[in-house]
Amino acid sequence: MYSGKVKEFLKKRKVSEGDFVKFVLKGVKYCGILLPNEGTSSTDSLMIKQESGYNVGINYNDVECLTNAGKKATLGGVSKFKDLKFNKQMPNVSLVATGGTISSRVDYKTGGVYMLMEPNEILKTTPELVDIINLDAIESPFRIGSEDMSPDLWSLMADIIAKRFNKGDVGVIVTHGTDTLHYTSSALSFLLKDFQKPIALVGAQRSPDRGSFDGSMNLICAAQYVTSDIAETAIVMHGTMNDDFCFANRGTKVRKMHTSRRDAFRPINTLPLAKIWPDGKKEVLNQYRKRDDSVKAKVCGGFENKVAIISAYPGADPEIIDYYVDKGYKGIIISSTALGHVPGYTQKKKDSWLPVLKRAVDSGVFVGNASQTIYGRVHPHVYRQLIELEQMGIVFLEDLLVETAYVKLMWALSQTKDLKRVKEIMLTNYVGEFNQRIVPEAFLY
Ligand code: GLU
Repeated sequence: MYSGKVKEFLKKRKVSEGDFVKFVLKGVKYCGILLPNEGTSSTDSLMIKQESGYNVGINYNDVECLTNAGKKATLGGVSKFKDLKFNKQMPNVSLVATGGTISSRVDYKTGGVYMLMEPNEILKTTPELVDIINLDAIESPFRIGSEDMSPDLWSLMADIIAKRFNKGDVGVIVTHGTDTLHYTSSALSFLLKDFQKPIALVGAQRSPDRGSFDGSMNLICAAQYVTSDIAETAIVMHGTMNDDFCFANRGTKVRKMHTSRRDAFRPINTLPLAKIWPDGKKEVLNQYRKRDDSVKAKVCGGFENKVAIISAYPGADPEIIDYYVDKGYKGIIISSTALGHVPGYTQKKKDSWLPVLKRAVDSGVFVGNASQTIYGRVHPHVYRQLIELEQMGIVFLEDLLVETAYVKLMWALSQTKDLKRVKEIMLTNYVGEFNQRIVPEAFLY
């Protein structure tokens, strides 16, 4: 919301947010959409989305002859901007657009962020892409917020990505809501575990209509990533709060660690694969799987839906475990405290999880243990209770993130019912989901 002198300035000229405006700046005529000024540090700035797709902040004192061009930008607004012309000589990359803030915009009628931008409009927010890639296909199988994502949609995405790669693309960029982006990145990592080309998952914490839109730089860095030789499924998002560089973080070792910061995605228990600057400069920070264009893309496995994450906390009712067992669940990931604890030797015997967990394991439910501390690893030998849990048949999942453990267990259970084999799969390092040695700098990186 504009305030003070700028508000007066706009009021006098009968211009408000969302209006198409014409104005003169240093003798040159311009037109564009007046955006909300959120994200600009200067209270004297007008935020304008130009026809090129770029957002600029202009001091209102420098603006001459500002007039309302008579139209309101509604959901059709951005489609007015010119289509990007890609160069066929550049590397072939495709876009899988699934929804989220990166493909939404402020609806000026309601003031709310609206989720259903046409996928090709996402590109118009980032004209720089034409200098890096040739976008040869856009697939948009669904457009949803990532909170509405489901395992069958992860599989659908993997099928589309495999198809695109087998048509010869050098890389695929997936645009996606950020809330559950790290579940999807884990899912695609396992489904395409043997594949050796880069997949970049990108989102945004601010919508394209805002001056602080972060999706453009994320898309540019994603384009740089998918044309590199780092053949992993990675989340490519801002590394800092500024528009300086992105991190490409391994899909199974990354997490959204803040509700709203642009640099919310942090590597967990490892370093980022690489720092990537929009101009294409890269600094590799970790070991990575190398590109091999001769490997065909093949989707491996699917997801067993009857898997749950159950959190351990003081006072947590053990009956919740019985509920899942009785409902026929095949797998449970305990989000345990620190090294792997659950309420065990409670003052009141009825509050202990140990008997219900034993019942779960004895009934053939796979129970995995991953830590809710996020950093570090669970360990079955330090405390007596942990030794007992291990003897009971609960599998300690090292430094796996709870979310990665959940996705991996669904994936493992889709492939076999043999619990010995499930355990083997769960403890095999397929795509860098385990780290033997956690370097100290990885903490809160
Ligand atoms: N909650 C929505 C989602 O995850 C919007 C948040 C975002 O995209 O960053 O899709």
